[in-house]
Amino acid sequence: ARVFVLSKRPEGLPTLDDFAEATWADEPLHDGEVRVEPLFVSVDPYLRGRMSDARSYVAPFEVGQAITSSAIGRVLETSAPGLRIGDLVRGESPWATSYVANAANLWRLPETSDVRPSAYLGVLGMTGLTAYVGLTLFGGIQPGDEVLVTAGAGAVGSVVGQLARIFGARVVGSAGGAHKVGQLAQLGFNAGIDYHAVDFSEALASSFPAGISLFFDNVGGRQFEAALHRMKDFGRIVSCGAISHYNDTELPPGPRGLEGIVVRRRLKIQGFIVSDHLSLYSEYLRKAMTWVREGQLVSLETTSRGFESLPQAFLSLFRGGNVGKMVVEVGAP
Ligand code: NDP
Repeated sequence: ARVFVLSKRPEGLPTLDDFAEATWADEPLHDGEVRVEPLFVSVDPYLRGRMSDARSYVAPFEVGQAITSSAIGRVLETSAPGLRIGDLVRGESPWATSYVANAANLWRLPETSDVRPSAYLGVLGMTGLTAYVGLTLFGGIQPGDEVLVTAGAGAVGSVVGQLARIFGARVVGSAGGAHKVGQLAQLGFNAGIDYHAVDFSEALASSFPAGISLFFDNVGGRQFEAALHRMKDFGRIVSCGAISHYNDTELPPGPRGLEGIVVRRRLKIQGFIVSDHLSLYSEYLRKAMTWVREGQLVSLETTSRGFESLPQAFLSLFRGGNVGKMVVEVGAP
């Protein structure tokens, strides 16, 4: 099998040189194992953190070892009673053309033709759960909330906006470029802000005349600082990610005025990690399937084709190269 390994730890923005292709011998199966061919591989911003050796909530990749991420694959060969050849499964997968997995670590996809299997990496997977947990458990979203979501046209952001609308809130998303802002309108966001094209603070002032009550942040940095100063009294900030900092080589400045404004406006800032909340997945999936069937929740994806495009697809996340969930269709030409 072909596999991508980490060739060296990146400094700043990762490059293609940080990845190398290698070959693996196909190992025989032991009891309880299956051979899986990855079909759709998720590339995610948090993998940047795993390429470094800084302390985090998930262990770093080792230099010379395979990069792994969540993927949907097909069972090619089985020594596990619960899985048959041809079954579609989701699991933590190496960036490889085939691999051996313990069946206990795989989740079999429900048999439904309502969605493409790749949706189980996005709107029906951890991406969707992240949006749901952030909005409900930590955001305490209520009808009438005034919601801002940064990276609104991204994987998590596009679900946050749709769920916020389903929950009866008014929602505005930020995104880089007119095309992405157009996508936000199609998803039912009340408004979109192209943060490349406008003064972000001024745009927030006109989008939120009475202030933001719930801020779902995927980006950090300047957008965080501007939104902080637009919060309503008792507003809630849910810190989901800070992609604007993932390639920083030193600690970023600001946000200016943080402590004073948190006190004066009695704000609450809460971070969370979705993997602490996997017990909510079945509840989320049940609800999300219903919303998808009703047409209230749509799956937005950018597909990159071919195994060899994996590193490039990952790097493009940091240039805003995706709308919705970035997925690599490994088997495609
Ligand atoms: P996205 O699909 O949102 O992809 C990244 C997007 O971020 C890009 O398309 C781009 O959108 C934006 N972006 C990239 N670089 C910058 C930058 N320097 N400044 C501002 N915006 C930038 O990824 P995900 O939806 O998978 O993840 C979104 C965020 O949520 C990330 O921060 C991620 O780490 C975090 N996350 C957290 C989880 C948790 O458990 N807490 C779980 C999953 C994700 P644009 O062109 O609009 O700028």
